[in-house]
Amino acid sequence: MTIQWFPGHMTRARRQIEEKLKLIDVVFELLDARIPASSRNPMVDEITGSKPRLVLLNKADLADPEQTAEWSRYFRDKGLAVHAIDANAGSGVKELAGKSKELLKEKIDRQLAKGMKPRPIRALIVGIPNVGKSTLINRLAGRNIAQTGDRPGVTKGQQWIRFGGELELLDTPGILWPKFDDPIVGFRLAATGAIKEDVLHLDEVACFVLKVLVEEYGTVLGERYGLTELPSELPDMQTAVEVLESIGKRRGCIVSGGHVDYEKAATVLLRDLRSGKLGRMTLERPDATGELA
Ligand code: GDP
Repeated sequence: MTIQWFPGHMTRARRQIEEKLKLIDVVFELLDARIPASSRNPMVDEITGSKPRLVLLNKADLADPEQTAEWSRYFRDKGLAVHAIDANAGSGVKELAGKSKELLKEKIDRQLAKGMKPRPIRALIVGIPNVGKSTLINRLAGRNIAQTGDRPGVTKGQQWIRFGGELELLDTPGILWPKFDDPIVGFRLAATGAIKEDVLHLDEVACFVLKVLVEEYGTVLGERYGLTELPSELPDMQTAVEVLESIGKRRGCIVSGGHVDYEKAATVLLRDLRSGKLGRMTLERPDATGELA
């Protein structure tokens, strides 16, 4: 589900997170490993303040492993702890307790020095809609408990999920809004399914994806759709539309009169991308600052 964010929603979402922050020791900031910068809330630093934070690059199973390593370096250079996971299958998830302990080492050592037995570390997951918050909560709980529905304001009783005796997780995540101002960020969010396609034109999103595929993952389109003689760059919309047209022809996306149905061709491409059928790929580079990269 996608929500329309209005200023009132943002204020409420922010206030809810600030309330939850009082209860916890560490923030798990969930990002989409395929678009780590674009899936980041623009005010997350300000909202989470001085709480220790672990950046989690989720959906790493769908992302380009080399790029995930690059992104991990990028976040580390910014002084943030970072860890790649796949909340769906569970890989990387069991390390969360250990990673949290590392982050809180000084505090835990102080407690131990005073002869106190450290209590379980309490964590809160925050992230934009569709980044995998409920999936991770359910994975940690070992059952289906996370409330679905990306609506800030829908908080029933909050509970702690015990995870291995050392970590406790708040069962309601902090829902943050995505970035709105940059059209390229919008394309990235739409391409990965983080925002609904109908907010943007499907064929434009597909053309954005094609540009990345042709310029960064040169062989993929040939392998998947049997396209030959592809250009090495897609400098403008027209050249991208031509590639989309070839995919449409290959996949039988034809309307009456023998013309290519671009929307259908775009749907085929985006479905293949999101399901991983095009391979593992990352749609932005650490040095990208709003530009296609
Ligand atoms: P939320 O809105 O942040 O709670 O996101 P959800 O947990 O509902 O996840 C959104 C979609 O992403 C669902 O279809 C999940 O199955 C999928 N998903 C979540 N985590 C992963 C992951 O690590 N890998 C893959 N491939 N899909 C994931």
